[in-house]
This record gives sequence, C-alpha cells and structure tokens, in this order.
Amino acid sequence: MELSNFIKIYNSADNQDNILIYSTLRGATLQVSNGVVEALHNGTLEKGEQETLVRLGILVPDAQAEQRQMIGYFDWANSNARRYTALITLNLDCNLACPYCYEDHFRGKSYMSEATADLLVDSILNGPIATGKEVLLDFYGGEALLSVPLIYRIARPLYAAAAGKGTTFSFNLVTNGTLLTPQVVEDLLPLGLVAARVTIDGPPDIHNIQRPFVSGKGSFDLIVKNLKDVCGLFKVQLGGNFTRDNYRRFPELLDILESEGVTPDKLNMVQFSPVIPTAGEAGLGDFAMGCACTSEPWLIEASLFLREEILRRGWNTPKPKLAGCMVEFENDMIVAWDGSLYKCPAFMGWDDLRIGTLADGISDYRESHNLDIWKCEECLECSYLPLCFGGCRFLSRLRTGAIDNLDCRKQYLDSALERIVRQDLELRRR
Ligand code: SF4
Ligand code: SF4
Repeated sequence: MELSNFIKIYNSADNQDNILIYSTLRGATLQVSNGVVEALHNGTLEKGEQETLVRLGILVPDAQAEQRQMIGYFDWANSNARRYTALITLNLDCNLACPYCYEDHFRGKSYMSEATADLLVDSILNGPIATGKEVLLDFYGGEALLSVPLIYRIARPLYAAAAGKGTTFSFNLVTNGTLLTPQVVEDLLPLGLVAARVTIDGPPDIHNIQRPFVSGKGSFDLIVKNLKDVCGLFKVQLGGNFTRDNYRRFPELLDILESEGVTPDKLNMVQFSPVIPTAGEAGLGDFAMGCACTSEPWLIEASLFLREEILRRGWNTPKPKLAGCMVEFENDMIVAWDGSLYKCPAFMGWDDLRIGTLADGISDYRESHNLDIWKCEECLECSYLPLCFGGCRFLSRLRTGAIDNLDCRKQYLDSALERIVRQDLELRRR
C-alpha cells in the first residue's frame, strides 16, 4: 500500500499526539498520534490501522494509478452523469439597486420571451428528459420572482414530462427574497420547487445600503419577514456579500435571525462570499456562494472568521469537497434571457465565451474555455487537485483577459485548509 497523493498531514502545535490526516479526494479526516504517522511512513502499521487508512483512501494500492484516474475524472463524471442542471436567467430586471451588482451595466427591462422559454422546454424535453436524466434548474435573474408566469410556463410541461418518463424535474430559486412570500412558495411547490437561495448582506444598516430597493428604501425588514414565513416550507440557503470593511459585522445577522425565530435548524445552509470586482464587464453577483475564492490575506482571514462564527452558532455551511469549475461538466449549463448559452453565470456579457444558443445548439468550447488547463505537471502533482482542478476560469480571465492561466489556490489552501478541517472537527454540529 502507498500513501495517496491527495492527502495533507497537519501537526498540532500544542499536542504531538493530535495529528490530522485529511484526504482532499475523499473529504475524510483522521486524528492520529505521532506514532501512527511514523509507522505510516516506515511501513510498520498494524493490520487494523492499515485497514482504516485504506478505507479512508489515505493508503491506496497504487498512487500513480490514482493520479491517472484523476486525469480521467471529468470524462468519467460526464459519461456517468444522471442529472442535467441548468441555471436559467429569466430576466435582467430587479426591484433592488445593489451598487455592486455585476449586471448593472446591462441591467434593464430585458425578459426571457415566451418563445425562448418554449425553446428551452423543447431542448430539455428532447435532450435530458428523453434520455431519462433527472433535471434540476436554478431560476435566476435579475430577480427570478419578477418572472413567475414564465416559471410556470417552463416548469409545468417539464414536471409532467419527467414524471411520464419515470424521472424527476425540480427547481431552485436564486432570489433577493423580497418577493418570496408563502403564497408564491406554496404555488410553486407542486411544480417541483425544492429550495431557494436568498441573499442578505449582514445586519440592517449594512444590508440596506448594499441592497436597497430601486426607490432607495431599505429591504432588510421585508426579506427577514419573508424568510421567517417561508423557511419552514422548503429548503432555504442564506448567502450574503461582504466587503473588507464590513465582514466582521456579518455574524450579527445570524443573531438577529435567531431572535426572529429563524433558527439554525430552519436554514439549510449559510455561506457568505466577498463582493467580487466586476471589471466593468461581468462578475458573480448572488451566484458566488464560495465558487470563486482568492488568496488575498484579508479575504482568507474574513472567510475563516465567518465560517467559524457560522459553525460556532450551530448553522450549517459547506464542507470542502471534490469540486471542479462548471466548465468541466457537460451537463451543467447557463441559459441567458435571450437564449444564449454559457458555462458560468459570470461569463454572461462576454461574447467570446458564449458557447451557443438554444436555437442553434452548442459549439465546441474545449479550447476557448481551456478545459484541460489543469492537466499539467504542477496540478497533477498537487495534493489540492481534487479541491481545485486549476481554479476559477472567471478569476483567471479577470486577471489576464483570457482563460490561459491557472487560478492557483495553493496559497489560499496552504493558509486556510487546516483551519477549515479543524473547524469542522471542533465546531460542526450539522
Ligand atoms: S468560472 Fe467556474 S469556478 Fe469560476 S465562478 Fe464560474 S463556475 Fe465557478
Ligand atoms: S491550480 Fe494550484 S492549487 Fe490548484 S491544483 Fe493546480 S497547482 Fe494545485
């Protein structure tokens, strides 16, 4: 047996017998003594210990074969995918006027037409549903709930057709929360609504400046009221966008929610993300939810601080897990309001990153999106590969104007991963 390429060993500064072994591939954590680590390195492990380490993927029969398997990971994942997921931009309109909104430069009264919605339905009926795949859509905007009739138009036929084919259709809402009333939720549940992602940017004084109504009025009270009213009806995930100046105050939001009766058991997940620079063209807006991360020191500190405060209060937040950028997954798609197709919401607005349209189909984007960028010596020998796969194509493009470089997360993961793993061990209750 050999040591997997995809493990990290963390010594404890104050306890020699509290060494952590973490598998970046399996997400498994093991707390062992110094003696076990020594036995691991010189091949003198006891049988029971060895079996545990094999079961957790820390020891593998052939480390080079494991590395070769990683090269083919996305080919395997794509050919075995049983689910088709797409994020559907229903409109570019919004009842809020967030100053950092990435859609600001092209925001307006642009709505997906009924004809485009019908094309979308046809493409899903004739593609994923015809082949028996599960279908999961994220309805997005602008503000998705400004397009409720269009949600019905898309969801009704897909829900019925999926049931007829013995598969499932479901959808999530990505929403600012101002229109997320119990009535809306109850009406949409029978058509496949399963979850919503709502954004609140910290305590009221911060949120109301960062996410005011178009009129200038604050939106905090209405969103919290809606959250209170709907969180028992379905899964709700809470996001929020922080800045360097205000992230320390975001835990106040969690305390306010709890005092309003929105307790940790009532929200599926909480994750705060930084406001990402828009570079005048595109950005991440409310989609971010930790997809992209950068290694600026303040940002590492902020994300660790907030993660700790979330877990300490008993809320759920994502664990590190094997994850690649959406560009790698054939069955993940972004459909813009006009029927254009992209591989990431942040790419909308960049013509050269459009990969096709609903009417004309998808063109070959392997080269334009540099799919194999991570199949280089540097990444293949990196123990963080399963958590990174070359990083975020959007951040790479922001830096150089092209997807031609790795968005290397080594510095970030070197600084943050051990603390994240220890937070999960010590603080996670869910
Ligand atoms: S480019 Fe990939 S990693 Fe970056 S935000 Fe888009 S989907 Fe996420
Ligand atoms: S981009 Fe950097 S952190 Fe990511 S897999 Fe490659 S070498 Fe590792």
